[in-house]
Amino acid sequence: MAAFVILLVLLVITAFVFTGIIALWVYRDAKERGDRGWMWVSIILLSSPILGGLLYLIARREERYPCRFCGWMINKTANYCEHCGKQFPVCEPGSGYLEDLPLNERKNDSKRRNRNRRFLMAMILSAVMMAASLVGLIVVAVNSGDADIGIDWNTGWVMMKTESTWDNVWTFRYNKASEGYHVDSRLKVENPQTQQLAVDLSFGEGQEMLMKISQQREDGQTIEQEVYLDSSSQTRYFDLDQFKDGKIKISIYNNGVSDVSGKVTVLDK
Ligand SMILES: [Zn+2]
Repeated sequence: MAAFVILLVLLVITAFVFTGIIALWVYRDAKERGDRGWMWVSIILLSSPILGGLLYLIARREERYPCRFCGWMINKTANYCEHCGKQFPVCEPGSGYLEDLPLNERKNDSKRRNRNRRFLMAMILSAVMMAASLVGLIVVAVNSGDADIGIDWNTGWVMMKTESTWDNVWTFRYNKASEGYHVDSRLKVENPQTQQLAVDLSFGEGQEMLMKISQQREDGQTIEQEVYLDSSSQTRYFDLDQFKDGKIKISIYNNGVSDVSGKVTVLDK
């Protein structure tokens, strides 16, 4: 449980860091391109860093720099200034396009590249940490307490089902279900010698229903008890001597019956 909480906190922190890094990068990049930084930060916070970041990259403005003649901000790839009309590049033969860029712009360019590289590293690092804590969380969740008692996935269908497990009382009700469909719950047993399982189960005309009670022991083996139940208005009791204190899993399988309702709990004898 402690590991679960620690990993969950770690996941939340790394997710915040990841979002923060992307938001900061987008903010600075947008500002440099004369775009609305806060608008993009809001989009990232409202959607998600990945979706918002992608949207930004798609809508990202072209890089701009001041015209060397009049200072008007023009697109880096523009071949003339929209403001003063001067043509670019205005270079003599042999001088490259870059020479049209003011010297400090070129310096800024390499600074920007370095900054982008640092941001990318931080982004990857936080994404890896986020993924690692998520994987850790899943591993811990699957291997801990409740989840390890024989996972038996339901593949069938069910109609109009209501179900709840509250205060160690499990109730369920459904109209119809496919053959083999099962409802499951886990109940807590404090003293298997003095307590028993109380089962109320009723359903419409049809076959008996199979109930399985199981518990996983510390050595990994599973203790399992199977009982067939017919529809009854009376409460039936089952001893729990063969189990130990802790949680037991109860599964009740459909066998072509309908209008099923049940209430299962652990009571003192
Ligand atoms: Zn100009």
